[in-house]
Amino acid sequence: MTVSNYDNLLADVPTDLYIGGSWRPASDGARMDVIDPATEETIASVASASVDDAMAALDAAEGAAVEWGARKPRERGEILRKAFELIMAESERFARLITVENGKALPDSRGEVAYAAEFFRWYAEEAVRGIGEISMAPSSGARIVVQHKPAGIGVLVTPWNFPAAMATRKIGPALAAGCPVVLKPASETPLTALALAPIFEEAGVPPGIVNILPSRRSGAVVGSMLSDLRVRVISFTGSTEVGRKLLHAAADNIVRPVMELGGNAPFIVFEDADVDAAVEGAMVAKMRNMGEACTAANRFYVHESVHEAFATKFAERMKGLALGHGLDDGVAVGPLVNAETRDKVVSLVSDAVGKGARVLTGGAAVDGKGFFYPATVLTGVTDDAQLLRDEIFGPVAAIQTFRDEAEIIARANATEYGLVAYVYTGDLSRGMRVSEKLDFGMVGLNRGLVSDPAAPFGGMKQSGIGREGAHEGIMEFLETQYVSVTW
Ligand code: NAP
Ligand code: MG
Repeated sequence: MTVSNYDNLLADVPTDLYIGGSWRPASDGARMDVIDPATEETIASVASASVDDAMAALDAAEGAAVEWGARKPRERGEILRKAFELIMAESERFARLITVENGKALPDSRGEVAYAAEFFRWYAEEAVRGIGEISMAPSSGARIVVQHKPAGIGVLVTPWNFPAAMATRKIGPALAAGCPVVLKPASETPLTALALAPIFEEAGVPPGIVNILPSRRSGAVVGSMLSDLRVRVISFTGSTEVGRKLLHAAADNIVRPVMELGGNAPFIVFEDADVDAAVEGAMVAKMRNMGEACTAANRFYVHESVHEAFATKFAERMKGLALGHGLDDGVAVGPLVNAETRDKVVSLVSDAVGKGARVLTGGAAVDGKGFFYPATVLTGVTDDAQLLRDEIFGPVAAIQTFRDEAEIIARANATEYGLVAYVYTGDLSRGMRVSEKLDFGMVGLNRGLVSDPAAPFGGMKQSGIGREGAHEGIMEFLETQYVSVTW
């Protein structure tokens, strides 16, 4: 795979800042490189926004806010619907772009594009489902009129693991609600976000409503916006560590936080589960985006009576996954996004093996160019292994066994995270009973995939605050106002 193979793909991708509907370099000319993680070659140089650029974006957003917020919901909905259609019409180009900057294999990228676009279709529909109510105050007899207004300018900060979907999951509801936004994509993957700008223009989004500001100076740029009184919402997806900092910053001006943070998902297989279905689900829950997902199954707990069958079949499937450049045919596992992520996987596996875990397949990084790590299955993982506590963020499945239901619920809940849990059982009433006792915002019951634009995505405990998707997602960008009326 050489750079020339994807020259055409990159030829018309914008690389400047998108502010107020036009393109400009950073105020001080700063730029940053984008790397293909499969070749470690530089594929683009993108403007890196300064604090002055962030202020210019807020000016643009402020200038456009009133007119956009006053548009009829149907008009905003039709624009989002158009954006959905435009992305789908170019879905292959977007998928390839995700693959070259993030690394994930093309089939995975195609899945992400469909998921990403769906947030525009869903919020096109949600834009017109405005809800409100009128009731009579029990004592005074006044009428209580409840309606919703756009919350104001939203600052959106996204991670590199789903460069398209994490952006659209925030932009869709914000635009539907009538809010302008400033998006700061992750520095590893700014191209996909920038490539969305022409889509917004063609769909009819007015200048200033969506501003896109890649920046390596994330702390300063996001911090400056959070200390500006015009910003009303901070919607962040990324690590719990950075989320915590943003929550502190948001406290000063009481900016509403929406936080989608880290996870440490348990994947529980009971003795009455369909083992083949559980293996199928495990492949999805573990290997979507090579395990670089906050929803990735991190701790596999398999009942001791089905452990042997599950582990053998799972390892067999994992072993069969071809590693390579994500654009190449037949490749299922691309490189991890950068050296740091790959090195963390190496050190977590060596820690687990050093403490007694057995490698069924994989277990060592691939030499040469590219941040490759093969699909790996470990059994006999000991309780003191670090990967049971940390997000692995790579294609490594760590398996332990268990004996009884109460015990495994307690072990699954013994984490400060609470994003998603997976449960496999042939007994639906047990499945519901266990799900209700799990302290996780989402549960996949006999399913390895929970992400769905029509469902509320989000975590409990240190996995986050607020929800994205579903009806709840638009409420994060709306203020409730009540008028007490005598008539
Ligand atoms: P990250 O380091 O937290 O970065 C996420 C975003 O925040 C990037 O755009 C980053 O910019 C920016 N950022 C970093 N430091 C910042 C600061 N001090 N102030 C403001 N912004 C800052 O996370 P990541 O390494 O990109 O992604 C992996 C993490 O995201 C994992 O923990 C994963 O669980 C989580 N995640 C959660 C969800 C969810 O929905 N719950 C979804 C996907 C990922 P730069 O790129 O310039 O550093
Ligand atoms: Mg980071």
